Amino acid sequence: MSDAGDPLAAIPAAARAGLVELYRDLERELAAVQPRCELSGRCCDFRANGHVLFASDLELAHLAATLPLRADGPADLCPWWQGGLCAAREGRPLGCRLYFCDATKQSELQALSERFHDRLKRLHESTAAPYRYDRFVRRVRELAALHARR
Ligand code: SF4
Repeated sequence: MSDAGDPLAAIPAAARAGLVELYRDLERELAAVQPRCELSGRCCDFRANGHVLFASDLELAHLAATLPLRADGPADLCPWWQGGLCAAREGRPLGCRLYFCDATKQSELQALSERFHDRLKRLHESTAAPYRYDRFVRRVRELAALHARR
């Protein structure tokens, strides 16, 4: 099948390798901050919490390399949110990795979010990966539909 017209095909392998490193560094820093996760599933319940999650196309390319993109389920919810848990943990984007409801750690999490989003943007620039930062759920569904047509 042709990759023509697939924006994820324009993401260089070096950019994905840099993203894996970025996620690894983030996990190391999160381990030091130790935000509490109660596995309540509230972070992905976008209807209830009004949270809007964004991700870049590089992050979508990484996710698509770990699992086929999908567009099932309600249009305003993530298709990998199942039974209150995430079924896409390996490929989930930065915003998911940094969203915790632990009120005692919000300032550290905000600082990490700013620093790692800045690094993500610089990674796009340094690897010439086109920078598109869009609503995650909508973009996943658009790209899943595109991939299904290929
Ligand atoms: S990818 Fe996982 S953590 Fe992120 S919104 Fe979907 S279910 Fe939640």
